[in-house]
Amino acid sequence: MELNYIEHIGIAVKDLESAIKFYENKLGLKCYSVEEVLDQKVKTAFFKIGQTKLELLESTSPDGPIGRFIEKRGEGVHHIAFAVDNLEKQLEKAENDEILLIDKTPRKGAEGLDIAFLHPKSTLGVLTELCEKKT
Ligand code: ZN
Repeated sequence: MELNYIEHIGIAVKDLESAIKFYENKLGLKCYSVEEVLDQKVKTAFFKIGQTKLELLESTSPDGPIGRFIEKRGEGVHHIAFAVDNLEKQLEKAENDEILLIDKTPRKGAEGLDIAFLHPKSTLGVLTELCEKKT
């Protein structure tokens, strides 16, 4: 596969409001966008650091993916996202290399990016997201 850079790191939090305050007041970063992604049942907040972002994720429902993650493992790093060109092609390469795909075809994520997840079972326990900015 060809990965360009770390686009963002996804961090699961219980309370987005207080997490934003922590990142702003203690870490000195500035939240530039809050967005709800309905089909993922999450509210997200974005921070930029260099060309990489932090994506804080709060579940809007206990049965959403972030809700289940926090119940099992608590708050913390949820996924790492790499920027790629030609997402379809990267997914094809991943599949040829016997990496399990959660998303066989790209779907819409936050910030208008096309995204797809690789299964942590085949990526050494790290939920891995690929994203492509379509202009
Ligand atoms: Zn993400």
